[in-house]
Amino acid sequence: MRLRLMLAMAGVLLACSAPAGGGPRFRKVFAFTDIGDDEHAAKLAELNVFAANCCDAANRPDPEKIARAKRFGIVPCVAFGPFCDSHAQVLSPEEARLQAELQSRFDPPEAKGDAGEQGRTDRWRTRHYRLGGEPEPGNAEAYIESIGCFVGTNACAKGAAGLVERLRANPEVKAVCLDYIGYANYRGCRHPDCLRLLKAWLEREGLADTEENRGRFFEEQIVAYYAALYDAVKAYDPSIVVYAHLYPVFLPDPLYGSRLKLDYCAQTCAWYFRWPVEKVRKYAETVVRGQREHWPFAHGVPFVAYGPWANDIDPDFRKTPEDLDRELRVVLESGAEYLSVHEIDSIIADPVVFAVFKKYCASPSR
Ligand SMILES: [Zn+2]
Repeated sequence: MRLRLMLAMAGVLLACSAPAGGGPRFRKVFAFTDIGDDEHAAKLAELNVFAANCCDAANRPDPEKIARAKRFGIVPCVAFGPFCDSHAQVLSPEEARLQAELQSRFDPPEAKGDAGEQGRTDRWRTRHYRLGGEPEPGNAEAYIESIGCFVGTNACAKGAAGLVERLRANPEVKAVCLDYIGYANYRGCRHPDCLRLLKAWLEREGLADTEENRGRFFEEQIVAYYAALYDAVKAYDPSIVVYAHLYPVFLPDPLYGSRLKLDYCAQTCAWYFRWPVEKVRKYAETVVRGQREHWPFAHGVPFVAYGPWANDIDPDFRKTPEDLDRELRVVLESGAEYLSVHEIDSIIADPVVFAVFKKYCASPSR
């Protein structure tokens, strides 16, 4: 009897930490994943995920996936990023060396397989690598992957044409999910063409060549690229919804999202590695407050990351289900109507973590 009472009490306590029955919950979740099989699609639907990728490996429509998405009330989407609009972004020699080190390119040939994995995890831990999120204060970092450059009007035109081409090839798609529109060194591209554009811009604007003004130029390039993609999508079909997660971080101005022409703009408010809760709150409030600053149709969406592998990279910053619960509650308290997450598949894979998210997500409206 006593045990049953304790269990009942535990249930009451859990219920108390959840939003009240009719209390606020996130209306939709913006994720970055494939529709997967029926079981996966059902879990996405349970969290009220807005859209999922329904293309095959060659970015052609997969009729089976599209039918599954529709059956579960999930919008078929295509993913897009700056893959080959001009050159690959160029880093400084120091940044390139750091990137190569994080990629394990200097490892001896015997460091392969499990040993190599462990070596990489150890290196990322000692380096406090944050995987494209905000580095630890004062820590130099570069993103481990190369990213295509999107600077300049030619890259904008090429990106916009490429995206529309992908949409034409996928007529059932009603959402575009943008990712990786950022710089591998978190600041800008050092290719000679881009430095020439920077110089011309500084002259036109009458600005000195300072780090701050360089940051302004490269931020303008992000804003212009998003606008070019957005306008092209809406000219093709105004009913297609465009959303994005801003990634990797842009250090001169980490929360620039309100400037972007997007229907739903997901900005990182909690990363894979635990951030102080005051920082999560401050970021979420900034995202919500700024959402209509530049575009009346835009929705600011706080983004929360979760990946259990990150706990091995830096156990000092590991996130427990309780941490996630706190983060989601804080984000909801900021007034956010929508939530964005990655990796949704890790959330689905862990029943405890899934239950935490489900508590804060509205039931599907179907
Ligand atoms: Zn460039």
